[in-house]
Amino acid sequence: MGSNIASIGHFIAGQHVAGQSGRFGAVYNPASGEQSAAVALASADEVRTAIASAQAAFGPWSETPPLVRARVMFKFKELLEKHKDELAELVTREHGKTFEDAKGSVTRGIEVVEFVCGIPHLLRGELTENVGRNIDSYSLRQPLGVCAGITPFNFPAMVPMWMFPVAIACGNTFVLKPSEKDPSTSMRLAELLTEAGLPKGVLNVVNGDREAVDTLLTDPGIAAISFVGSTNVGEYIYKTGSAHGKRVQALCGAKNHMVVMPDADMNLVVDALIGAAYGSAGERCMAISVAVAVGDVADELVARLIPRTQSLLVGPGMDPASEMGPLVTKEHYTKVRSYVDLGVDEGAVLAVDGRQLVVEGSEHGFFLGGCLFDHVTPDMRIYKEEIFGPVLCVVRVPDFETALKLVNDHEYGNGTAIFTRDGDSARTFVNRVQVGMVGVNVPIPVPMAFHSFGGWKRSIFGDRNVYGTEGIGFYTRLKTTTERWPTGIRAGAEFVMPTMK
Ligand code: NAD
Repeated sequence: MGSNIASIGHFIAGQHVAGQSGRFGAVYNPASGEQSAAVALASADEVRTAIASAQAAFGPWSETPPLVRARVMFKFKELLEKHKDELAELVTREHGKTFEDAKGSVTRGIEVVEFVCGIPHLLRGELTENVGRNIDSYSLRQPLGVCAGITPFNFPAMVPMWMFPVAIACGNTFVLKPSEKDPSTSMRLAELLTEAGLPKGVLNVVNGDREAVDTLLTDPGIAAISFVGSTNVGEYIYKTGSAHGKRVQALCGAKNHMVVMPDADMNLVVDALIGAAYGSAGERCMAISVAVAVGDVADELVARLIPRTQSLLVGPGMDPASEMGPLVTKEHYTKVRSYVDLGVDEGAVLAVDGRQLVVEGSEHGFFLGGCLFDHVTPDMRIYKEEIFGPVLCVVRVPDFETALKLVNDHEYGNGTAIFTRDGDSARTFVNRVQVGMVGVNVPIPVPMAFHSFGGWKRSIFGDRNVYGTEGIGFYTRLKTTTERWPTGIRAGAEFVMPTMK
């Protein structure tokens, strides 16, 4: 291991611990192509140590009044604001996205922390007086125990913050298993939450791969699993976690379509598509990867997209001039590039070819230029599968109904958008589309922290979205009490269902 390669261990019971398994994963700076760190890959025993630490912390933390838990979150929010640039830089250095985009993602994570600062209000129960004569009933929500989060590489700050602040504010304790491709941000978040006053053991971070994940999925000490990542892994997580009696939410892959109606404002459409397809090099689960050109709009749309795609400023994420950074790893670069080769083989028209791009001074970085395919058809693999890179496919359809059917027939249903000036088309689309998050003249409709995030179809397994009131519901159990305080009269045993008279 070179001397400038950092070693990343785990964060258990309030402190950093070195990895014991002897197994490590490589973390890269995708802009330079150099390895920046070696991350420990936890053994099952190390994960069990983290679970035990979270179990020990659960009793006192769940009994801590929500108001006191909220105050820790207020302090955490203050620290996140103070360290926003530092966190964003960590994201850029390990993920590759531009610094400004990384800052935006940190902000969206902070907004979840802001939301749970209101946890005393969010956990308020319900009471009905006199559900029967002199009988009252009340419902309250209680924490589950130790919850686990398994997160993807593409939002190393935001996605973990969709999970642990909500779980912890609800009174749970947490074990986070971040992506082994960019683990440093999670470690820093755990330090900051500890600095904010979180008792040790309430948040633990174990780094690792499948061995760590399988331990979380099967260990009886884990009550609930939140997963965000690819569909095949998510389906496995959902089935295995559920089979072991855990509550599971698994948010998965996507192929998001933007329907462009002939009456849409083309300036707005082109700006929206360029940002939504190529921002973060397309490594967003809400990226637009398919433009559905309705009627005669396609020729003009493609003609306007070509020069904009060709002139994208691609470079290191820390360079303020860059609009798009590199892909996360060499393997991912190779995978995305092979999809571009495949699209050509399948007969789509490659209107812009980003494969030859060389970024001067960063020749070893994992850079792929923006790619634009025209005349893509629904039977092609480049249409059906998630590419997760800077590749936009244009599908030409004759009318609105065909566009809607196309979106609804796709196996994924994470996000979608329609661009139009016509309220009727927009309303019909929103009403009939089989997708969880819909934008009307908004290309990436990510719900704010006080709403909830989640797709439909094979973009989610489980029935609860993340954050917002759905997140509160996921991380708590409902308990309903019916009580009376008799005043001396005893009527004897009752053998029939009590009903109101
Ligand atoms: P991934 O599925 O490869 O990894 C996600 C997590 O699962 C990581 O922590 C990883 O270590 C773990 N993992 C990977 N393979 C595993 C296996 N075989 N068994 C057990 N655990 C395993 O996903 P990724 O490449 O890190 O992230 C990109 C994917 O995430 C894309 O499909 C994207 O659409 C999806 N994503 C979805 C959302 C959403 O909200 N729907 C948000 C962000 C990303």
